[in-house]
Amino acid sequence: MTEYDLVIIGGGPAGLTAGLYAARANMKAVLLESKDVGGEILNTDLIEDYPGFASVTGADLSKKMADHALKFGLNIETYKPVKEIRSDGDRKIVVLEDGTELSAYAVIVTVGGEPTKLGVPGEQEFHGRGVSYCAVCDGAFFKGADLAVIGGGDSAFQEGLFLTRFAKTLYVVHRRNEFRAQAILQDRLLRMDKVHSITPAVVKEIGGNGDVKWIEVERDGKKERVNVEGVFVFIGFRPVGRHLFKEHIEHDKNGYLITDQYMRTSIPGVYAAGDTRAQLAKQITTAVGDATTAVLHAERYIEELRDMERDFPTASRAVVAESASKAELLTFAPGELVVREGDAADRFFMIIKGQAEATRRGADGAQVVVNQLGPGDYFGEIGLLKNAPRNATSAPAVSWSAVRPPRDASRS
Ligand code: NAP
Repeated sequence: MTEYDLVIIGGGPAGLTAGLYAARANMKAVLLESKDVGGEILNTDLIEDYPGFASVTGADLSKKMADHALKFGLNIETYKPVKEIRSDGDRKIVVLEDGTELSAYAVIVTVGGEPTKLGVPGEQEFHGRGVSYCAVCDGAFFKGADLAVIGGGDSAFQEGLFLTRFAKTLYVVHRRNEFRAQAILQDRLLRMDKVHSITPAVVKEIGGNGDVKWIEVERDGKKERVNVEGVFVFIGFRPVGRHLFKEHIEHDKNGYLITDQYMRTSIPGVYAAGDTRAQLAKQITTAVGDATTAVLHAERYIEELRDMERDFPTASRAVVAESASKAELLTFAPGELVVREGDAADRFFMIIKGQAEATRRGADGAQVVVNQLGPGDYFGEIGLLKNAPRNATSAPAVSWSAVRPPRDASRS
């Protein structure tokens, strides 16, 4: 089994950003992508809201991102679909569809999602024969045709704009009168003569004869047929990240993975970024930012895991992983108190850099140095193990850092 520091799953903007940072940090990392790199943006014609690129095609931007990561030595493996991720002690085992298994200290999941289906009669039957979920991929097959886009979000409008290059007439069918797409996209699309909105309308059926010929919509309680040859459905998408896990991973009611501010999921060593993560805005800008946070934290996590494996060789690997995942890096100035004798104990400390002194109050009230500590030493555990107040005061002798594993980290 090949061992990695980090496995990144998914090759969209989030995955490629994580890969770039991992490569630049010299981590032993691999990016696995089930198709070609690019992810969702490959299905996007023009991107106009990625800073620095007033207008760039999805294909161009993804190529630039991939080339950038490759330039710094990222190992990208395309057409490597992942079947499952499971924990094995403090390692994550990534199982590919072809049965190959990889082991890593940490995994960043950036697998995005798949289009939500309307779930109406004819949708499945005519998929590929008039029903599509990607205008950039299929639009050119419909030159001079009457088309419909279903949905009222950014995707429907952006893809709709692309379809106006080919469509004779474009119907925007949306279940409410108000659209949620950005105002600029609404203005551009709806002012075109060939574009007509049908709202509030719900698609009931897609029909035809071999290929799509019509959709049936219900508006104001009445059913009507609209003749179209192509139906492009953009009604959101279903995140797929959580389906990779056998063990429980926290997600919201729509299936998006829940993370904290460092992009940590509920499984130690597993991070999520991009569209598969629960968040307000699914933008390329947020995906790359979140991926950056994820990989920087993963790097720190891996370092702490290695330190803890060395310092707690007999501890349960799963506990070590959880402890490393929750550890916090703190920096103290010389003389600054870290713990004070008599205070309640709620954590313990391990010194990474610098030195510290433990002092205790003597009979005459003066502080007496009782211990000198350096890198690799730890303190504060007695209060935790005995559930007792601090028995000494600790302060750095020179500038130093300590990590704080969680309360339940034990030296078993
Ligand atoms: P979205 O914003 O969730 O919009 C989905 C649309 O489909 C909504 O208008 C929704 O109606 C409608 N809808 C949902 N379920 C439906 C159903 N069963 N039947 C009929 N209509 C249904 O999804 P999206 O447009 O795919 O965008 C996803 C995310 O990507 C968003 O955060 C978006 O901002 C982002 N995005 C950004 C850009 C960009 O240019 N920056 C481009 C594409 C996507 P209601 O409004 O009634 O809920």
